[in-house]
Amino acid sequence: MVVNSVHWFRKGLRLHDNPALQEALNGADTVRCVYILDPWFAGAANVGINRWRFLLEALEDLDNSLKKLNSRLFVIRGQPTDVFPRLFKEWNVTRLTFEYDPEPYGKERDGAIIKMAQEFGVETLVRNSHTLYNLDRIIEMNNNNPPLTFKRFQTIVSRLELPRRPLPPITPQQMDKCHTKISDNHDQLYNIPSLEELGFRTEGLPTAVWRGGESEALERLNKHLDKKVWVASIEHPRVSTCSLYASPTGLSPYLRFGCLSCRVLYYNLRELYMKVTTLILLFGQLLWREFFYTAATNNPNFDRMEGNPICVQIPWDQNPEALAKWAEGRTGFPWIDAIMTQLRQEGWIHHLARHAVACFLTRGDLWISWESGMKVFEELLLDADWSVNAGSWMWLSCSAFFQQFFHCYCPVGFGRRTDPTGDYIRRYIPILKNYPNRYICEPWNAPESVQKAANCVVGVDYPKPMINHAEGSRLNIERMKQVYQQLSHYRGLSKFTNKSIKTLK
Ligand code: FAD
Ligand code: MG
Repeated sequence: MVVNSVHWFRKGLRLHDNPALQEALNGADTVRCVYILDPWFAGAANVGINRWRFLLEALEDLDNSLKKLNSRLFVIRGQPTDVFPRLFKEWNVTRLTFEYDPEPYGKERDGAIIKMAQEFGVETLVRNSHTLYNLDRIIEMNNNNPPLTFKRFQTIVSRLELPRRPLPPITPQQMDKCHTKISDNHDQLYNIPSLEELGFRTEGLPTAVWRGGESEALERLNKHLDKKVWVASIEHPRVSTCSLYASPTGLSPYLRFGCLSCRVLYYNLRELYMKVTTLILLFGQLLWREFFYTAATNNPNFDRMEGNPICVQIPWDQNPEALAKWAEGRTGFPWIDAIMTQLRQEGWIHHLARHAVACFLTRGDLWISWESGMKVFEELLLDADWSVNAGSWMWLSCSAFFQQFFHCYCPVGFGRRTDPTGDYIRRYIPILKNYPNRYICEPWNAPESVQKAANCVVGVDYPKPMINHAEGSRLNIERMKQVYQQLSHYRGLSKFTNKSIKTLK
């Protein structure tokens, strides 16, 4: 029997450690790698230009790698449910492969495609490779519920066998065996769209700080590992101004799009650990990713408060004006505004910077729902990931996963500690560049003469602070205490009420 395979790329944009793609090639006569994209829908989706650019670069890279194997990427315009029946007939497809998508929306979409494929007599092979573990297995081992504390999660994971070892990249020999003719007009029919075709205006667009694609991801992996060894050699690694900037060792967007396999990272870290015993907490971060994926996989309401069984119902304020100030970096707090500007311009901000702005928007200062913040992150972050983003926002806003005491960050003090030279703020808020260190985190406290000398008068050239932090945060802590007191009445959570909420200068 002839086997004509189609491998459907969604996440997992790579040729290394790609078990579903390996299945597509296995004993096949022809294989076509497709990516489905609806340009009309693209403009409407809540995804900013930086993430689209990253995706298109990742597709270019994939196409280039496939060219080296005498193959190509087929980008098909449309919706999967419309596209597949056409492809099945046109290419006489007998096998469809793709990576397992653990998110509720993805599972639903894939269920429909699997059913459709069945009707066409097409075999579907789905393989797990976006997460380290089989998430359903973790849930099963926790009495059929996702573990809701990280500690519990770690306990379960420690009982599991190690994640599957990564597979090698696709070889030319493998591809030769199922050589598929590429038509002369391939570039007309199946080219990767440009940002313009997706409806974005690109004049004046600065060059990307993060380049998308598997090749870049693999280069970064090596630097990432070197840095881990270097950091391990320092006694007390601290977050400094330097760590706030985009780093050539950062991996999160690559893990998000699957340009890098999380298992390749895992096993590389493991090997390092065997060699350099001072390294601790190596997989901690990768496990956090896994933790949120597990919590979300069976919860379609994971990204909202309503109807979400793990989310504390908090009476957040509606305040579109304040939300816009936060989202656009016009709060009047340079530390917050610098972070939001970096996010919008570059698509990545440091973990603690995410803490700072998420706390400010929600329980710290503005008392605005985490859902609004999550949506802004979803639009702007290159690594925006449905499960991890929603989970982290619930965490930061004291809405779920109660096992840690939450501090309320001061938008002045936190900035000063993390960026003592003020250089980070000067870079992203250049209007403040002439402010002396002493006032850079609180320019409204600078004497008028200093403001004038710095060529930036607060209230004229840079906004006044939108809120009195001391008062606002005091009030919000009271509100949060009340929410938790009510909760404790019927959930026995009294131990969380007082201890868990305190301010940090
Ligand atoms: P490293 O520190 O080098 O860690 C390696 C990898 O582990 C990361 O690339 C990431 O995939 C994973 N990871 C690290 N920290 C965490 C964490 N706390 N939770 C989950 N996974 C983690 N991360 C995302 O990948 N996508 C998101 O949408 C996202 N949204 C967030 C929203 C908020 C409000 C907060 C506070 C954090 C969020 N994070 C998110 C987690 C974390 O901030 C980023 O993963 C990290 O900053 C990425 O930088 P890095 O690649 O240098 O990570
Ligand atoms: Mg890092």
